[in-house]
Amino acid sequence: MTSSGARSVRTCIGCRERSAPADLLRVVLCGGEAIPDPRGALPGRGAWLHPACLEIAERRKAFTRALRTSQAPSTSALRDYVARMSKSVAMDAGQPELGGLATPQGSTVRDRGIQDAAPMSTQP
Ligand SMILES: [Zn+2]
Repeated sequence: MTSSGARSVRTCIGCRERSAPADLLRVVLCGGEAIPDPRGALPGRGAWLHPACLEIAERRKAFTRALRTSQAPSTSALRDYVARMSKSVAMDAGQPELGGLATPQGSTVRDRGIQDAAPMSTQP
């Protein structure tokens, strides 16, 4: 008996907010490394994360817990991926699927949310 009711919502391991999978990045553990799985196609235990919450998750050691590993996994691949993602958002703010990046808590704010957010990622 699996609870299929909650299928469309995932919890971000960084901020603990629940979001639609489209707003979150799936992360899987692969050889001691946390790697991005944007298509959700990789096997294994997955964790869900707002790209913007990567740092929070690392600080909280959320990967260690979520991926059920005894050692903190390397997140360099993940950082690389997120960095590239945020760059493409800065250049092209019209991508609806990346709406969660600027507004980790509100999946309802999409295109407009990105434009309202400061162009720089440094927040006050
Ligand atoms: Zn989050």
